[in-house]
Amino acid sequence: MTEPVFEQIAIIGAGLIGASIARAAIEYGVAGSVSLYDADADVRRRAAAIGLGDVADTLKTAVETSDCVFLCVPVGALSAVAANAVPAMKSGAILTDVGSVKGQASSALAAAADGRVHIIPGHPIAGTEQSGPEAGFASLFRNAWHILTPLEGGDEAYAAAVSQLEAFWCGLGAKVETMDAARHDRVLAITSHLPHLIAFNIVSTAFDMETVEEGEVVKYSAGGFRDFTRIAASDPVMWRDVFLTNKDAVLECLGRFSEDLAALQRAIRWGDGETLFKEFSRARSIRKAIIDAGQDSGTVNFGRNQPEESLEGDGDEAD
Ligand code: NAP
Repeated sequence: MTEPVFEQIAIIGAGLIGASIARAAIEYGVAGSVSLYDADADVRRRAAAIGLGDVADTLKTAVETSDCVFLCVPVGALSAVAANAVPAMKSGAILTDVGSVKGQASSALAAAADGRVHIIPGHPIAGTEQSGPEAGFASLFRNAWHILTPLEGGDEAYAAAVSQLEAFWCGLGAKVETMDAARHDRVLAITSHLPHLIAFNIVSTAFDMETVEEGEVVKYSAGGFRDFTRIAASDPVMWRDVFLTNKDAVLECLGRFSEDLAALQRAIRWGDGETLFKEFSRARSIRKAIIDAGQDSGTVNFGRNQPEESLEGDGDEAD
């Protein structure tokens, strides 16, 4: 058996992502032990009951002997949590996060820096629409991208810490990529944030219509709408924070999206089948490129009716 990458890690925020890291770190042998802390006493109790690790009563106890601390809280809570964690951490330890918006996360973590710990923001491109400690599972990160956005101007010790964190995520089965935080936020605005916004909006529109159509939206919901409802079931706190902290990139994408939607609306109004066919064919080719890149399964019916295990860990639709 190989040596763990870290002797002890701490997870702050024992929800879907924190619980998945905790489970994977032990199951794949990349951490010797896991300590956890969550602000919510009920979450702490539930995390202890399902054996996620050593659940601490305070954040300080969870982080003070850990070699790497993972902040797995909503993006809006990162500043306060990082400011509490850093003074309690060992010199030379790593502070990282999993927040979906890296510009905000990098500023929040960097503001807490005291020169003793290595700050390395990160984001796993994996998740599900579920929340809470019970939702976590070890294979969540397998074959999914993990993006690290290291801070500028790091020395040799910092570079070594980045390599160690990369080794940890590779040990969980992830493919690690390094990029600049601003670029991360522009890319994720179109690949994740805008699709979630559209899902929240279409489900909300249908909900309003349902009162008019007397339950028929739910009763006859077709595949496309059901897929939107699954995405729209994602955690409202997490997504509120994503839109509040990646505002510029999301508004830029939304502007382009609205223009393109207006062009389709116009084509429908004027019976312009040629435009509709051209646009739909282009969209279809992107789907093929995603399947060819191994980012999704080409199984018919959007992968429904497949055995659970073939879907787990695909990094599917989440964040
Ligand atoms: P989650 O299941 O809701 O878990 C978050 C946990 O953090 C909750 O138990 C929450 O407690 C706790 N928490 C909130 N504020 C805290 C604080 N100040 N100190 C300690 N604990 C605190 O959320 P998640 O889906 O794991 O998301 C966590 C992070 O991962 C977010 O930053 C998100 O952007 C990122 N992420 C999520 C996904 C995804 O698909 N879900 C994918 C990639 C990255 P309460 O519920 O009581 O507030």
